Amino acid sequence: MSERERGTLLRKIPKVDELLATPEVKELLRVHPSEVVRQGIRNGLERLRQAILRADKAEDITEERFALSHLLPLFAEEIARQVSPHLRRAINATGVVIHTNLGRSPLSEQALKNLVEVARGYSNLEYDLAQGARGSRYAHVEEILLRLSKAEGGMVINNNAGAVLLVLNTLASGREVICSRGELVEIGGAFRIPDVMKRSGATLREVGTTNRTHLRDYEEAINSTTGLLLKVHTSNYRVVGFTSEVTVEELVQLGKRYNLPVMNDLGSGCFIDLSAYGLAKEPTVQEAIQAGTDVVTFSGDKLLGGPQAGIILGNKELMDTVKANPLSRALRIDKLTLAALESTLIAYLSEGQAIREIPTLRMLTVPLEELRKQARRLQRLIKQETGKATVEMIREQSQVGGGALPLQTVPTWALAIKPLKATAGALEAELRNLEPPIVARIADDRLILDLRTIQADEFSTIAHGMELALKKISA
Ligand SMILES: *Cc1c(COP(=O)(O)O)cnc(C)c1O
Repeated sequence: MSERERGTLLRKIPKVDELLATPEVKELLRVHPSEVVRQGIRNGLERLRQAILRADKAEDITEERFALSHLLPLFAEEIARQVSPHLRRAINATGVVIHTNLGRSPLSEQALKNLVEVARGYSNLEYDLAQGARGSRYAHVEEILLRLSKAEGGMVINNNAGAVLLVLNTLASGREVICSRGELVEIGGAFRIPDVMKRSGATLREVGTTNRTHLRDYEEAINSTTGLLLKVHTSNYRVVGFTSEVTVEELVQLGKRYNLPVMNDLGSGCFIDLSAYGLAKEPTVQEAIQAGTDVVTFSGDKLLGGPQAGIILGNKELMDTVKANPLSRALRIDKLTLAALESTLIAYLSEGQAIREIPTLRMLTVPLEELRKQARRLQRLIKQETGKATVEMIREQSQVGGGALPLQTVPTWALAIKPLKATAGALEAELRNLEPPIVARIADDRLILDLRTIQADEFSTIAHGMELALKKISA
């Protein structure tokens, strides 16, 4: 369209003050704060302005686009956006079980119940009910952690990155920490072992090569300033081919000989050996402790399936010095997390119960046949709702994700959806804009919904959302 035509269209956009005088907008003002309504109107009008600026032909912007009846839903949407939480539930159809961008682990019902209960009122967070005196927030979960891990001492803090920082700062500030070049991990969010080491006040002493590190490499690096031997789980990558690494047991032997503590950052620690359920063998927390490691750290919201937390376990003497570090106050865990973590840990007293109740474990161990049945059910629901796409059941691979079990995929069932009149990319974008948003991925120009991470109560929401999204992109 010509610049003149565009100018004419832009001038037709109603003024905010005119709109504020209409009965319909006055009704909105009765329900919402005036500043919110005004901003909602401004945002709604801006969307119309952008549509005019983007349009190729003047005819594309019909007269009715300027009508109040057409604008009101836009205003309502823009008002709703301001008064509803930005952080909200989303449906994970990606099949990545521990999806860091989507909040890692959903909590168990028991954890949720306890979290709400503790959040609603006051609690004995730092109050010893037996003594009627000040207590410790760390005491609530320490006993069960020691029972599950057979460690002598433990504490929980904000997250595992903090746990690594706190332990390095306590045990090795001003000293050297020996770590293999094959284990200088970077995980998402700019957490790099060498950088954390620097901030902790310790000096990194790299040994070995990327693919091979031997016990003698560690031994030769030991000197009078050595404070700690560190082993880091290579959570999100694996070195393959001509490789060699030193086991925790060997490091512990070496540590004993030179009277040096050994720390193991497990990344994604778990109390259950998931190889019994067809997943790759990863060392459990108990195994790491049993190997004689002095300090073990891991996340609360990776394989453990609880809330974000950093768990530190180890020998009593070292744990007492870690607890006494003033930095722990800056990294401390909050009461909501603590409530959810304690309930999660209680489930681990029985392996069967943990697998049944903790969503992360349940999703990782659900039988393939069960996923097939669910795929069939969701396929029927979606087909009922729409004739605008082909919906096919396919065999796929889910990822464990979240810096847990690197490279590990698990066979799954998924739905492959191909819109008849639009691209899979358009469908994927539309699904993300729904309420609740549905996050899925694309392969071979088909939208893939992996049943492994879809929760049982999300089926009808997905089917309905699919109908809305397909209608919109097929118009
Ligand atoms: C994930 C991970 C961390 C960080 O844990 P957060 O709980 O995300 O802070 C540290 N080290 C390793 C090896 C990890 O895999």
